[in-house]
Amino acid sequence: VFILAIESSCDDTAAAVLHNDKVLSNVVANQLIHNQYGGVVPELASRAHQQNIVPVIDAALRKANVQKEQLSAIAFTQGPGLMGSLLVGSSFSKSLSLALQIPLIAVNHMHAHILAHFIDEEGYDKPEFPFLALTISGGHTQIVKVNSFFDMEIIGETTDDAVGEAFDKSAKILGLPYPGGPLIDKYAQLGNPKAFVFTKPKVPGLDFSFSGLKTAILYFIQKKKQENPNFIEENLNDICASIQYTIIEILIDKLKLAVQQTGIKQIAIGGGVSANSGIRTRLKENPYGWKTYIPKFEYTTDNAAMIGIVGYQKYLSNTFETASVVSKARIQF
Ligand code: ATP
Ligand code: FE
Repeated sequence: VFILAIESSCDDTAAAVLHNDKVLSNVVANQLIHNQYGGVVPELASRAHQQNIVPVIDAALRKANVQKEQLSAIAFTQGPGLMGSLLVGSSFSKSLSLALQIPLIAVNHMHAHILAHFIDEEGYDKPEFPFLALTISGGHTQIVKVNSFFDMEIIGETTDDAVGEAFDKSAKILGLPYPGGPLIDKYAQLGNPKAFVFTKPKVPGLDFSFSGLKTAILYFIQKKKQENPNFIEENLNDICASIQYTIIEILIDKLKLAVQQTGIKQIAIGGGVSANSGIRTRLKENPYGWKTYIPKFEYTTDNAAMIGIVGYQKYLSNTFETASVVSKARIQF
């Protein structure tokens, strides 16, 4: 089975070709245009998708050495995401599926962040059902009980900001460019995580909250800058390390509770923030006797390979759509 997968939910235009559960090519065109605005500008994103989508798909097919005529199906991101961005991917996928007379498969982007673990990769184990998925990304923070490929249950989620936003907004307070998550990670590696203490929010059960942390960081920085205008420059590594440490502690606390409540000790992380070196190391150390699954770096932030692996599973179960399928900015899990 050859699947062409297309992902265009936010600001990255991505295409991948899979042969069964193996990735033959995985191409991403990042839209650097948003950096200067401090966040993704939806109108610019959809315009850039239009410019990028044909060359990105051509590149994916060429790298995979697969002809359009060999494709078994087209999988695309149905949602959640920015409507104008989603429409570029879905319209293109519909046209291609009609032209090539092959099935069309709609994929939930958040399922894909979780199921990316089922891509066949040397050195990476696939989780066994049931497992807990911690999806940490730019728009979501969820603990999901994954019973099977398409039977998933959200057992905890953020009540305000996503963890990726917590990283990006903290970075903004520090004067770092968007997206700041990877930069905080970079500086944190050189800093002392215990240098500054930020209080963790008290949220009942398995839910999360990150907006309070952002405000605490803002006030902390404002106060310190009054004492010393160069406070950020002089302490950047320690500030980043302390912020990152606090965020990781928040995540680990909730995971502990989720393991306790469900009795499930298999934990898979997914989404852009699972690229974070701190959380990866922390989970690899495996201090609680969990079996942890850390995705290959290129399958953490948005990519089409993860859409392709869900497409492959849906292909096997004959879950196809017609051209009347609609994109959804928000999607029922
Ligand atoms: P969603 O998947 O919820 O729809 P999205 O697709 O926009 O949101 P992703 O691409 O999955 O988000 O993740 C992007 C987020 O990951 C950004 O907030 C970015 O700062 C964060 N991120 C990426 N790399 C790192 C890192 N190394 N450390 C911390 N955060 C990171
Ligand atoms: Fe994403």
